[in-house]
Amino acid sequence: MELLNPKDVRISAEAGATPCLVGAQCGECGAVVFPRLPVCPKCKKRDGMTEVEIGRTAKLYSHTIARFAPTGFRAPFFQVFVDLPEGPRIFSLVGDDCPAESGVLEDGMEMRLVVEPLADTDEMRAIHTYKYVPAACADERRGDAQDA
Ligand SMILES: [Zn+2]
Repeated sequence: MELLNPKDVRISAEAGATPCLVGAQCGECGAVVFPRLPVCPKCKKRDGMTEVEIGRTAKLYSHTIARFAPTGFRAPFFQVFVDLPEGPRIFSLVGDDCPAESGVLEDGMEMRLVVEPLADTDEMRAIHTYKYVPAACADERRGDAQDA
C-alpha cells in the first residue's frame, strides 16, 4: 500500500490495532502539532519536539460538500475540519462509506480515523491517506470485519 504522506500516518500490523496520525509534542509546553514541526509554534522552543501518536478519534468541527472535483476526484465529496483530542484542528476528507449528502454529518459528532484510497478513481485508487468517518459508521465496519 502506498501512502500519500507516509510520515504522517502510522499503521500497526498488530491485531486489533487502529491506524493513527503521527504528530509532534513540545517537551517544554506540551503543545501538540500536526503535521510535525521542528520548532514549537506556541513557545518557540527548538529541538524539543518528539513524535506522538494522535488522532485515532476526533470531533467534527465543521464540514462542507465540494460540488466540483479536482482531477482524479469525484464530486460531490466532504471536506471537513476535525478537532483532535490531543489539540490540533486539522483538515480531512471523509471515508467513502459516508455518502456526501446534507444531513449525514453533524458538527460536534464523534469521528474515527480510517486509512483509505485517496479517491475511488484510476488516478488515486493506489494512493492511501487518512480520512475520518462518523464513529457509528466505523463501529459498523469493524463489526462486519469480525463477522467475516
Ligand atoms: Zn512549546
